[in-house]
Amino acid sequence: MLGGPSDVVAEGAGGSSTPPRDADRTAVYEAEDLVHRLMDRSLDRPSLQVAGSTLTLPGERKFASLESVQRYVDAVLALPRVRAEYSEPSAAGVTVRRRRGNTQAHYEFGTATLALPTGLGTAGWAMRELVVLHELAHHLAGDAVARHGTLFRRTLLDLIDAALGPEVRLLLYVTYVDVGIDPVL
Ligand SMILES: [Zn+2]
Repeated sequence: MLGGPSDVVAEGAGGSSTPPRDADRTAVYEAEDLVHRLMDRSLDRPSLQVAGSTLTLPGERKFASLESVQRYVDAVLALPRVRAEYSEPSAAGVTVRRRRGNTQAHYEFGTATLALPTGLGTAGWAMRELVVLHELAHHLAGDAVARHGTLFRRTLLDLIDAALGPEVRLLLYVTYVDVGIDPVL
């Protein structure tokens, strides 16, 4: 098992307020869990048949420390393509910190903070490029009511294309369709 899903936490959220409508969340997690498993499998078998094409998947970065995640986040946000397509919502960029527990990664909108479980063994499931890009997509897509809606998905596909390449983007795109949600392009 890869551990739990990623999640977002809005500043001031919780309590008895009505939860935001995020109808596609479960399907997005399902699609991404499948892509995570395929990327793990690709370490041994990098070629994969997807939608009639043979994709050769690139290696996905795994992170050994929060400092390396922070460097990666800074580098992705500094990519010319990302800077051209997205306005940085936070003047100070994104801060990476450790999160207690091992079941969820999350992004905090109010503080532009990406929190990752970093523990040993299976608790380290979140220290991988695709999980970090998921949380970064929340940062760039903004605090929409539908947190995992079309804007989020388009942003994540863009980030994956820029950071990991078009093969992984196509893999996630097809997987979104396969679980019944429109990637929206
Ligand atoms: Zn999320």
